[in-house]
Amino acid sequence: MFKKILIANRGEIALRIQRACREMGIKSVVVYSEADREAKYVKLADEAVCIGPPPSGQSYLNMPAIISTAEVTDAEAIHPGYGFLSENADFAERVEKSGFTFIGPTPESIRIMGDKVAAKQAMIKSGVPCVPGSEGALPDDPKVIVQTARAVGYPVIIKAAGGGGGRGMRVVHTEAALLHAVQTTRSEAGAAFGNPAVYMEKFLENPRHIEIQILADQHKNAVWLGERDCSMQRRHQKIIEEAPAPGVPRRVIEKIGERCAAACKKIGYRGAGTFEFLFENGEFYFIEMNTRVQVEHPVTEWVTGIDIVQMQIRIAAGERLPFAQRNIELRGHAIECRVNAEDPYKFTPSPGRIVMWHMPGGPGVRVDSHAYTNYLVPPNYDSMIGKIIVHGDTREQALARMRTALSECVVEGIQTNIPLHRELMVDAKFIEGGTSIHYLEGWLGRHKR
Ligand code: ADP
Repeated sequence: MFKKILIANRGEIALRIQRACREMGIKSVVVYSEADREAKYVKLADEAVCIGPPPSGQSYLNMPAIISTAEVTDAEAIHPGYGFLSENADFAERVEKSGFTFIGPTPESIRIMGDKVAAKQAMIKSGVPCVPGSEGALPDDPKVIVQTARAVGYPVIIKAAGGGGGRGMRVVHTEAALLHAVQTTRSEAGAAFGNPAVYMEKFLENPRHIEIQILADQHKNAVWLGERDCSMQRRHQKIIEEAPAPGVPRRVIEKIGERCAAACKKIGYRGAGTFEFLFENGEFYFIEMNTRVQVEHPVTEWVTGIDIVQMQIRIAAGERLPFAQRNIELRGHAIECRVNAEDPYKFTPSPGRIVMWHMPGGPGVRVDSHAYTNYLVPPNYDSMIGKIIVHGDTREQALARMRTALSECVVEGIQTNIPLHRELMVDAKFIEGGTSIHYLEGWLGRHKR
């Protein structure tokens, strides 16, 4: 096992990784920007090194600074967390070439999954069902594009092969709008992602977002750890996640989970990963694979009892998975609410000094956050400042625990979206379960203030 790990991230996930290290007897080095000097995990770290000014381009995305910090601190491995460099194949490659272990999949796997056209082709080959659409990237020939759309059937969605974070997508309802939409998406994709390739998919009108968590070791073993329903989204950003997905028959989930685990073996995947699907009329359609730990991993940890971050570290160190698929049992129901520093209804960011921070506790409540009373939320990064996760024997109990937990929260000095979560936890449709990816935006439209 590693003696020392460098954490190349910030915020709650830096603290989460640090906790995993501490429990395993591994020393942690954190790198931080000048804006994060006061963060809890920086104060708690065995070693902390400032690597640059607040803009992430000069700190958390600065590969030479991160790698040379690993050198001077004698770290053996680098955990990239999520966001920043976590899905950057060049970074993974540079880490390994410099003699460190990258805690994640191989650079090749990251590269394939980062190109959505290549990822889809790999999935089709591995027997994972995909959204019907163009075979690979769209050619230049307008006739072929028109033909493809007719074959797929309107509405269609044009997506950038290099897209991410919900950007680089355009829905097309009629043939008249098609070619212009392809052209615009192409030029936007070229500018934003350095890759003008686009592809076409059938636009699913009312799907849910359901994803499968997998773990694969370097000895050809792969398991899936159940599913997460992440349909409560605004602008393609998840705000509430839960496991299991309400109302989906287990045999339907099992079929897709087994396919995902089999695909991991087939493509030689290692580490933790997530297969994201749209789910409509009882069918799963693959949209992308995330080759890293996800924000919402705690709901899976709670229903399986498996520590996903520790497993990432063990797999990177070459250990075998300590369980087989038959040993994985799901227990109860878990829900996560992401706490963002923002206006709960207008969504404008609300950075600044937290003058009072009181988080809930009690049975079945977990809070992952690096914030505390007197912590200054910097304006430079993502607005998520923590996550409240609850577990219950049933979904009803989990919902009740979340309501209680949210009622105990006190945050003063900045605005957060906790009031919005309080309202959503008593919403009849959410309580019923199984809402689509458009539900939250519709709800927000009806509850304008
Ligand atoms: P990103 O990498 O930018 O997150 P995804 O491919 O995961 O892109 O898609 C993000 C979101 O866009 C999905 O969660 C869904 O809301 C919507 N979306 C993507 N593809 C389709 C599709 N074929 N039909 C309907 N909605 C889609």
